[in-house]
Amino acid sequence: MMGNLFIVAAPSGAGKTSLVNALIAQHAEIKLSVSHTTRPPREGEINGKDYHFVDQQTFSAMRDAGEFLESATVFDNSYGTSSAAVKSLLADGFDVILEIDWQGAQQVRNNFQQAIGIFILPPSKATLEQRLRHRGQDNEDVISRRMRDAENEISHYVEFDYIIVNDDFEQALTSLSSIIVAQRHSLAIQKNIQADLIAELLAQR
Ligand code: 5GP
Repeated sequence: MMGNLFIVAAPSGAGKTSLVNALIAQHAEIKLSVSHTTRPPREGEINGKDYHFVDQQTFSAMRDAGEFLESATVFDNSYGTSSAAVKSLLADGFDVILEIDWQGAQQVRNNFQQAIGIFILPPSKATLEQRLRHRGQDNEDVISRRMRDAENEISHYVEFDYIIVNDDFEQALTSLSSIIVAQRHSLAIQKNIQADLIAELLAQR
């Protein structure tokens, strides 16, 4: 594997998706894994780009065939990460981001110990709620349930390697990209990527 695998988790409303989208727009070497879900598409979401939208039967068949690196039920819908897609991106040298919940994060860490966990926090509970309302895509029941679920998600922050508070967006983005770029410069990765250079530099004259 030439790339690193990153898990980015957060309570919904922490701004995770905006941060990750801005990050991949700036870095051609970082790819976002496109999850499968049984959730219906929201307005503006594109099949194959935001998610692979599938029915429950298709999802269950994929899960039973062992095609998911991890899968979980979140807000009554099934979500899963295609194992083959992630492995092929890593083998091609890309850094790969999984935008998944804490349940999926636990499974990935169990199956893939090199994975690096990054947890995004909102700057306050009030901001979190405000952000959930400003989306305007979910009804009141969904919002209050997501506030409760947010607390549950946040309680898992200790299971991650890095914490970013998303108060100022640009600062949070810089922190996120710094973590990923630093990891790319680790010896374990560079000794593979720079194998030819190192061989040339150390060749006997
Ligand atoms: P949403 O439906 O709002 O896009 O996502 C809801 C939650 O599901 C978010 O916390 C998101 O991180 C999580 N999620 C999205 N894709 C996956 C996945 O493939 N696996 C897991 N475990 N969680 C996911």
